[in-house]
Amino acid sequence: KAAMEKLLWRRSMQLQTEQRAWQESSEGFKMLEFRRSLPAYKEKDAILNAISQNQVVIISGETGCGKTTQIPQFILESEINSGRGATCSIICTQPRRISAMSVSERIATERGEVLGETVGYKVRLEGIKGRDTRLLFCTTGILLRRLLVDRNLKGVTHVLVDEIHERGMNEDFLLIVLKELLPRRPELRLVLMSATLDGELFSSYFGGVPLVQIPGFTHPVHTYFLEDILEKSGYRLTAENQIDDYGQDRTWKSNKQVLRKRKSQIASAVEEALGSADFREYSQQTRDSISCWNPDCIGFNLIEFLLCSMCENENPGAILVFMTGWDDISSLKDKLQAHPLLGDPARVLLLACHGSMASSEQRLIFERPEAGVRKIVLATNMAETSITIDDVVFVIDCGKAKETSYDALNNTPCLLPSWISKGSAKQRRGRAGRVQPGECYHLYPRCVFDAFADYQLPEILRTPLQSLCLQIKSLKLGSISEFLSKALQSPELLAVQNAIEYLKIIGALDESENLTVLGRYLTMLPVEPKLGKMLILGAILYCLDPILTVVAGLSVRDPFLAPLDKKDLAEAAKAQFSCDYSDHLALVRAYEGWKVAEHGLTGYEYCWKNFLSAQSMKAIDSLRREFQSLLKDTGLIDSNTPIYNTWSYDENLLRAVICYGLYPGICSVVHNEKSFSLKTMEDGQVLLHSNSVNARDTKIPYPWLVFNEKIKVNSIFLRDSTAVSDSVLLLFGGSILRGDIDGHLKMLGGYLEFFMEPALAQMYQSLRRELDELFQC
Ligand code: ADP
Ligand code: MG
Repeated sequence: KAAMEKLLWRRSMQLQTEQRAWQESSEGFKMLEFRRSLPAYKEKDAILNAISQNQVVIISGETGCGKTTQIPQFILESEINSGRGATCSIICTQPRRISAMSVSERIATERGEVLGETVGYKVRLEGIKGRDTRLLFCTTGILLRRLLVDRNLKGVTHVLVDEIHERGMNEDFLLIVLKELLPRRPELRLVLMSATLDGELFSSYFGGVPLVQIPGFTHPVHTYFLEDILEKSGYRLTAENQIDDYGQDRTWKSNKQVLRKRKSQIASAVEEALGSADFREYSQQTRDSISCWNPDCIGFNLIEFLLCSMCENENPGAILVFMTGWDDISSLKDKLQAHPLLGDPARVLLLACHGSMASSEQRLIFERPEAGVRKIVLATNMAETSITIDDVVFVIDCGKAKETSYDALNNTPCLLPSWISKGSAKQRRGRAGRVQPGECYHLYPRCVFDAFADYQLPEILRTPLQSLCLQIKSLKLGSISEFLSKALQSPELLAVQNAIEYLKIIGALDESENLTVLGRYLTMLPVEPKLGKMLILGAILYCLDPILTVVAGLSVRDPFLAPLDKKDLAEAAKAQFSCDYSDHLALVRAYEGWKVAEHGLTGYEYCWKNFLSAQSMKAIDSLRREFQSLLKDTGLIDSNTPIYNTWSYDENLLRAVICYGLYPGICSVVHNEKSFSLKTMEDGQVLLHSNSVNARDTKIPYPWLVFNEKIKVNSIFLRDSTAVSDSVLLLFGGSILRGDIDGHLKMLGGYLEFFMEPALAQMYQSLRRELDELFQC
């Protein structure tokens, strides 16, 4: 023990010397100068003091003021300076993998190191850390998984939870767990960091802990709402909410002809938008009335118009465009690549910013372009707070974000563009004032903004809770509903009950809410329970190879692309892979083809030809490896277990495994003369997403479809589906592997009664009799 202590002491001293040497070098000094210019640096002493005197501290400050890059570094430096360099262990969580990666790299640079020395990161699929790593950035999910095996976070000295204002489900969950952990680890320090913040809420949650506010420093941002934009371009909204042309070029001194053409473009776009909404109702300022204002109708014309005017006339500075979702970003990007702004692609650096970007792509976003080149970044709401692009001067905000929400009443997840909150709009605007006074263009009228909610609803209140409930059980945190009642804001009772009910139906929890064997295996796999079930059965039945692809495919963005203008071609391309009425098996075929092409170095061509996303294919490839190693961790397979054999690709076997995972997501296929209709027990009539291979046929020679997801848009749509037979549903639907055959049959009996399928009912009766006899023996 003494030898160990001596070793650690020597290492601590060494770290001190190294740190000092860097700060005294000329490059290190320059870096320090930069760091000192950040507002967070000025609060360094106050922050360190608060942390040493309190177990929990909350720190808030404007985005870009240096919270994420500086505060963990202050702690690390101060530990090293106090001779505890080799014994401290600081963990900082990030809601997104991209920020964990880019921030750790940035800090390593600021410390004159390469990644993996004192600073490292760990996210799902990858990580860089070494023996000496004392400051680790990870996603919130990674820390939660560590808590599974290490309930007291042994050896960890500081936990920092970043971006708590986003109120992600994992962050809210982590806060409950940490709050319970604190009394058991009195020396552990917890720091919560956030941009805009309802500070009181968090402070009182932890019993009135101190709040350190880093004073803001943004430049003024001139704000334009839709009416101001119109006015600036020579239009105004009249009392009747019509567009009125002033008939004169008031602004944007541009080539008159171009301007006139653009004006008519906006006019028609805005008119279209107004036609679909009643402006007068906006004055009532209710959330309902604004939901009929549809910024998508404005289309890209207005954005393109604004981009063009900025490129032509205004001062230098990067432009950041907040768009609704990834689809919009890629279509606008395609459009702008086909018809470059200013007619010259070399004068514009067009970048898209999304969660699964490669690091080389990431770096481009932070770099400054050459003189005369305009940087334009198309982003989703992730550019609101977690990454800071320094040279942004113009912001365009479309006002919406795609957000998962959950309709507890219908037990249906929805993915709909919804209005952002006032808080988000303010964040977006603030991005324009980082380096100099900026401008922000909101593509909606002020009265719509006035009706925004103040803050976005926390994720825990708007998503299904199944995985969360399993995690609560596996961390042995007691009764699910009791535990969730301790959250910052507790989810609806109905949503909790639905989740528990689901877990019981699939056999992960028993009647008294204890984890079953299946449930325990599922908690070891950090994927949705249904995907976990497929992996487990796939491993048991030796057909992992295709099942890994199915599961990976369900975890990434849909690899089958459907560009709006080439929809037919894309659907035809997907149909080639269509295989016996299954979207899941179509993906398996597409992936197998890609694998061969990729081997021959023609992966991109293959994707291009077949309307597949090369990025998704690569993600599937690496997820397959990840899932395989997770399965090894659970002990279900080992390095010698073959992941395929002669029967692995038997379609009926695969159908059975898919059915086992997706149950109770089933709907019955009701044939009529010309085609068929679909019905689920809960919703009645449902429709197939047009992307599904099953949507192309007028007949499906199977009585059931199992589906991964139903989405409520206007009607209820099923996304990917696989057709299954009666016997597959009977044998693999539900909880048969749990051994509770009786309960399983009862449940199926419920379905049968509902769907009145006499043949199946008969089969059920006879199967039941046989089983009864069997069990009596
Ligand atoms: P906060 O967490 O408060 O939003 P950050 O700590 O992320 O702020 O960033 C502080 C500043 O550090 C930014 O304004 C930017 O100037 C700089 N910075 C952060 N990340 C990078 C990077 N990857 N490359 C260059 N500069 C960066
Ligand atoms: Mg930050």
